Amino acid sequence: MITEIKYKKQICDIGKRIYDKGFVAANDGNISIRISDNEFLITPTGVSKGSLTPEMIIKVDKEGNVLDGDYRPTSEMKMHLLVYQERPDIQAVVHVHPPFATAFAIAGIPLDQAIMPESVVFLGTIPIAEYGTPSTEEIPNAVKKYVHEHQGVLLENHGTLTWGKDLEHAYYLLESIEFTAKINWIAKQLNGDRELSKTHVQTLVEMKTKMGIAGKSPLGVDTPEGIHSKKVTPSIGQGLSEHDLNVIIEGVSKKVLNELKKHL
Ligand SMILES: [Zn+2]
Repeated sequence: MITEIKYKKQICDIGKRIYDKGFVAANDGNISIRISDNEFLITPTGVSKGSLTPEMIIKVDKEGNVLDGDYRPTSEMKMHLLVYQERPDIQAVVHVHPPFATAFAIAGIPLDQAIMPESVVFLGTIPIAEYGTPSTEEIPNAVKKYVHEHQGVLLENHGTLTWGKDLEHAYYLLESIEFTAKINWIAKQLNGDRELSKTHVQTLVEMKTKMGIAGKSPLGVDTPEGIHSKKVTPSIGQGLSEHDLNVIIEGVSKKVLNELKKHL
């Protein structure tokens, strides 16, 4: 019970962050957490994510039946449940409408460019899941195609959906997607959205693999064999200490910078 309250509070905290950061307007967006095999906490419909309180959070089962709570769950619950059903390793899902990423989703441009080392390593490629009417089976069906090999999707003409090993992870993926889209947009205005070379991306994918992060990478660079079939949770730094991570990040950043200098 204490854990449940803790998770409800965490949903409220993340709700406030997504609202304050302008990732949603009015009552948009929804957040969920898996708390057991057949129990999920999810945000209600018709309430601003900026003013959620723990009593508003609803508990549902994997079919979407309400187990506990006075509010009605979000009408976009089906896409959350689809992610949990397909990915037993995933514990949290976040859906929002962040302006830059959503603009890419409207323009039909996936975030699959190799423009920054961090995006290559931590995000991989973020595809566009084909348009579906909110609240119908259309969105879950579109998301299903991408849920195993990516860490999130742009929902065509709609917004973003990210999934993670915990709520903070799903939220950080969303932040990274929006940041990458924003930088990509600014670079395009400068006519300077130059991509990293395939060699640079290969180096970054080696690093990503050592960190235990799965998922597709830009420029068609393959993750070494077996990593998808193992369905490794795409997490930041799984199995490595913070020190190990810093050493790897420093090493690869140096390598990439040296390579870049050669081309300047
Ligand atoms: Zn939406």
